[in-house]
Amino acid sequence: MAKQVVVIGSGFSGLSAASNLAQKGYDVTILEKNDVPGGRARKFEADGFLFDMGPSWYWMPDVFEQYFDRFGKKPSDYYELKRLDPSYSIFFGKNDVMEVPADMAALEAMFERYEPGSSKNLRKFLAEAQYKYEVGMKEFVQKPGHSILEFADLRVVASLFRLQMFTSMAAHVRKLFKNEQLIQLLEFPVLFLGATPENTPALYSLMNYADMAMGTWYPMGGMHKIIEGMVSLAEELGVKILLNQEVKQIYVPNGHASKVVTQDAEYHADIVVGGADYHHVEQHLLQPEHRTYTERYWDKRTMAPSSLLFYLGIDKKLNNLHHHNLFFDADFKKHAVEIYDDPRWPAEPLFYVCAPSVTDPAVAPESKENLFVLIPLAPGLEDSEEQREKYFDIVMNRLENLTGQDIRNHIIYKRSFAHEDFEKDYHAYKGNAYGLANTLLQTAFLKPKLKSKKVSNLYYTGQLTTPGPGVPPSLISGQVVANEIYKAMKP
Ligand SMILES: Cc1cc2nc3c(=O)[nH]c(=O)nc-3n(C[C@H](O)[C@H](O)[C@H](O)COP(=O)(O)OP(=O)(O)OC[C@H]3O[C@@H](n4cnc5c(N)ncnc54)[C@H](O)[C@@H]3O)c2cc1C
Repeated sequence: MAKQVVVIGSGFSGLSAASNLAQKGYDVTILEKNDVPGGRARKFEADGFLFDMGPSWYWMPDVFEQYFDRFGKKPSDYYELKRLDPSYSIFFGKNDVMEVPADMAALEAMFERYEPGSSKNLRKFLAEAQYKYEVGMKEFVQKPGHSILEFADLRVVASLFRLQMFTSMAAHVRKLFKNEQLIQLLEFPVLFLGATPENTPALYSLMNYADMAMGTWYPMGGMHKIIEGMVSLAEELGVKILLNQEVKQIYVPNGHASKVVTQDAEYHADIVVGGADYHHVEQHLLQPEHRTYTERYWDKRTMAPSSLLFYLGIDKKLNNLHHHNLFFDADFKKHAVEIYDDPRWPAEPLFYVCAPSVTDPAVAPESKENLFVLIPLAPGLEDSEEQREKYFDIVMNRLENLTGQDIRNHIIYKRSFAHEDFEKDYHAYKGNAYGLANTLLQTAFLKPKLKSKKVSNLYYTGQLTTPGPGVPPSLISGQVVANEIYKAMKP
């Protein structure tokens, strides 16, 4: 009989681990606490609007192609992709908006307008970024991160300097560009990794290659279409996905997990994969003697930010918004200090607005707009209705002023989501949105390990372990853990 694997959680990483294990011949069951799959990438419908609850940027289309290709499929078997142009816009102030074109020649021309002569440096910067993307995505992220020895391979060691592991993103960008707005454009993608440009290795300019050369895409119907595709693929492979099954305990007699207990059932397991937040699995589902890390260890980690989100239905079409809109009309450095160094509700936050209905008629009723507003916040802040409303007003005032229209009086649907919801819905440590930050000291083998040191058949996957936060890394994390299990315990 095939070995039975229980995967906890149906986010991108849990689904990826499950399908990869099923393909290798294991008998796989996913237990998911919520009533829909997808984890942080769930969707919900209200008053004719269809909201993606988490991710909205589809970057690195090659990672999705490679994911489906392992199973003889293509993304287009499950959803239709559209490249966005402009990729996104950045509001630096009223009448000061940078529209970032998809086309490389147009992008170079834009750089020249902001900083004469800078297109040459852009080409140099992107050529280096391409090298990092290729080595980073082919070699680094595929490593399980058990030990530093995985990186001892001469080619990789020699390339550590070329990869700029020891230079910060902020220093790298400033060496080549002087214009503050171009600098902000080039530093923005590392925010996805959950740390500041000063604290992120310049390796991650590979994100700029993903952004500028590979492009910003959108799956028609919404980001949740990826989850629907992955669920249907998992089911084709024989994975059982059981919803409304909240795991309460992993039972570990003699250092070996033997069953997983939910609120109303027990599941035999030969192998357990924790695809829920690592901290939750360790600290809440295991007895203290079976935990690899202490509460103190977790408290010392740099978590990626949490967020205050608003899902809004607007009863008219809006002007001056593209699909992705970044509002950098406030001091980024000040907001970053309030996220990382001196955690507090920010005085003047930067924020992001996604208007998917600009591209996709399926996500809003006719002549209406679907808006998703995100304010990055420090994890672990006290979250109250009063604070949420205060920030709603701050953001609405700026949004109305910068785009020159009345929005507030046209809101016909509104829902907010922040720390308390992240904790309640996903068991997110300190209410984090994007897991563990990819700082230099939390990269690769310095992350919480994919394999438990205390429980012989317990593994972890997802955005708190290798390779890190974001949809593409979560997909890869599931693949890497499935390989590790296969190497250790054949089905
Ligand atoms: C607001 C927001 C915006 C984002 N934007 C982007 C973006 O634009 N692009 C991008 O690439 N990434 C983005 N991300 C990051 C990306 O969404 C995540 O990195 C990724 O979805 C994490 O997947 P995961 O499988 O690690 O975790 P999750 O999606 O959290 O999956 C874990 C699952 O475990 C379940 N679970 C928890 N506890 C239990 C239990 N006890 N029993 C059973 N099940 C349990 C949870 O319900 C959940 O379904 C964003 C994230 C957020 C929150």
